Amino acid sequence: MAENVVIIGSGPAGWACAIYASRANLNPLVFEGAISQENYQNGTLPLGQLNLTTEVENYPGFPNGELAGYIRSSVDEKYINGFQILDEKHAVTGPELMNLMRQQAVNFGTRIITDDIQDVNFSERPFQIRSASGEEVEAHAVVIATGARANYLGLESEDQFKNRGVSACAVCDGALPRFRDVPLVVVGGGDSAVEEATYLSKFASVVYLVHRRDQLRASKIMIDRAVNDPKIEIVWNHVVEEVLGDDEHGVTGVRLGSTVDDAVRDVEASGMFVAIGHTPNTLFLDGQLEMNEAGYIKWTESFRTNTSVEGVFAAGDVADDYYRQAITSAGTGCMAALDAERWLAASGLH
Ligand code: NAP
Repeated sequence: MAENVVIIGSGPAGWACAIYASRANLNPLVFEGAISQENYQNGTLPLGQLNLTTEVENYPGFPNGELAGYIRSSVDEKYINGFQILDEKHAVTGPELMNLMRQQAVNFGTRIITDDIQDVNFSERPFQIRSASGEEVEAHAVVIATGARANYLGLESEDQFKNRGVSACAVCDGALPRFRDVPLVVVGGGDSAVEEATYLSKFASVVYLVHRRDQLRASKIMIDRAVNDPKIEIVWNHVVEEVLGDDEHGVTGVRLGSTVDDAVRDVEASGMFVAIGHTPNTLFLDGQLEMNEAGYIKWTESFRTNTSVEGVFAAGDVADDYYRQAITSAGTGCMAALDAERWLAASGLH
């Protein structure tokens, strides 16, 4: 029998959608992604990008406080070992928030499969969905909430040193011994780059924040933090042309090229963290939904999560290259559940 609604993805959009869909008696099924080396490398493990961050200071409802007791009393004990709960006073961390959301969805009866979706067929009804391990599911409605992943510079030398000094996630890798008390490079000028630089400054001897322009794109509060951090040095108007290193040490430095003249110089560093934006996770859709020029799924009606295929909805960063916040992601997840519920009712399918 076909599912009412299958939700693909497990960030704030996926769980918000699952919570609303469960409470509407739609009995949703979530494919939360696989726990695999490939997903680790791509930053596409279950629970999404928030699961790769530290404190989330801007998610409403979680001001800095003693959250440990609350989290331990809310999240099923069998999951507690999978992430760290901070005992000191703190703003909720990404992993804590995501586990709380997942638990909330489970509490209302959401079913979860820990696997990736390999392909979908939206040309027939009910829709067909196949997971990486070969599970085939039919669904009347589908919500795509697969988020986005970090971009890399695309240099051959960058590829060569991935996991040996090159990373796109300071929070995942920054505390490794190889990054302690050494110079590090962060590339980018947005909130992510500034956040990563600030985070890494706790471990590094100095952090060079390399930006291609003479102005950061990041928000004012984040810029102030970086500018006032004595361990962060902003390198304006430069790009990384090559990652330097060898087999024995991994990354040993970067070659910087000026964006205003022909100057090139080498800077010593034991790590390079890339924070230059994101690409939506839509490969498995094989072009079956309309996308914008950057590859994000198009919402086809204003203030609705409808896509170009009736009965398929999109929520969160996979369809949003503008706001890209946890709160907007959760908001559109809720909208997708309501849109799916109303569409199923109007179509006489539920
Ligand atoms: P972003 O805002 O798109 O910034 C990407 C940065 O990378 C830009 O500064 C861009 O330079 C630079 N860049 C892009 N391609 C490049 C290349 N090939 N070489 C060198 N530099 C390159 O992305 P983001 O920082 O990941 O932020 C995404 C969204 O998440 C934003 O809405 C942000 O506010 C939000 N966010 C919020 C927080 C927070 O509030 N704590 C933390 C992280 C992210 P240009 O400036 O020249 O374009």
